[in-house]
Amino acid sequence: MEQRFGGKTVIVTGASSGIGVGIARRFALEGANVVLAARRKDRLDTLAAELGTERTLAVATDVTSRDAVQAMIGAAVDRFGGLDVLVSNAGLGLGKDFEKTTLDDWRLVMSTDVDSCFFGAQAALPHLKQSRGSIVQIASASGLGGDRMLTAYNAAKGAVVNFTRGLAFDLGRLGIRVNAVAPSLTLGAEHADHPDAGSLIERFDQRRALTGYSTPADIAGAVAFLSSDDARFITGTILPVDGGITAGSGQPPLF
Ligand code: NDP
Repeated sequence: MEQRFGGKTVIVTGASSGIGVGIARRFALEGANVVLAARRKDRLDTLAAELGTERTLAVATDVTSRDAVQAMIGAAVDRFGGLDVLVSNAGLGLGKDFEKTTLDDWRLVMSTDVDSCFFGAQAALPHLKQSRGSIVQIASASGLGGDRMLTAYNAAKGAVVNFTRGLAFDLGRLGIRVNAVAPSLTLGAEHADHPDAGSLIERFDQRRALTGYSTPADIAGAVAFLSSDDARFITGTILPVDGGITAGSGQPPLF
């Protein structure tokens, strides 16, 4: 595979599961030093061993804590000497009727999905200024419209979407690009075998241009593109990787 990130350092939050694992694997394949951040250190260590410990660093972090994020980014820079790409992927969706949504639910989703991006961008900024690097945030199709039982998540991912756009303007003059990827239903191998996976995919297929579903590797491909020099003049973009679901009118199939 092309080594677009040889000598570059990339932080991936939420690298202990799902999409984050796929993103970390992709950057490692393309030659990056990869910093794996999440709370479950045992999982990060396993992935680091798979990718090779010479060019990976596993750091236990809670992305809802400003101090923890700052310390994680400091550890990354200490180990690899700088930072080129921050991928803010850690996130949490909560399916709950609005009437039953508590303040704690709301705050948990907002802190995991939105505060995490704010803390990451602020702590990474001095280092990205030096490298003229970039940020990619993982939003969601749920940040581009509303869904049943997902009010907190809709609000949080909507915030990620517009934070991406605003931040692109503040950081553009520093030579730093900021983009987001907006996945829809994305299933890793561990989910694809779930007994409900088939009916879920069928329901999504009703609203999508393409059939099937995206995998973490599909999201990783978009993240790698946006982080690369191929995207040198792209900033403030929200790139849906959703089989066309957000290109639809929202109506179910008429014919
Ligand atoms: P998973 O639940 O598989 O993984 C979530 C990751 O976030 C884990 O690595 C988890 O690590 C980490 N995380 C959660 N809370 C914290 C925290 N407080 N501190 C540090 N890390 C945390 O999710 P996905 O891979 O499915 O989702 C990844 C991103 O993609 C999320 O932002 C999600 O909203 C978004 N997305 C996913 C879609 C999908 O269908 N999968 C669709 C659209 C968007 P740990 O528990 O070890 O801390």
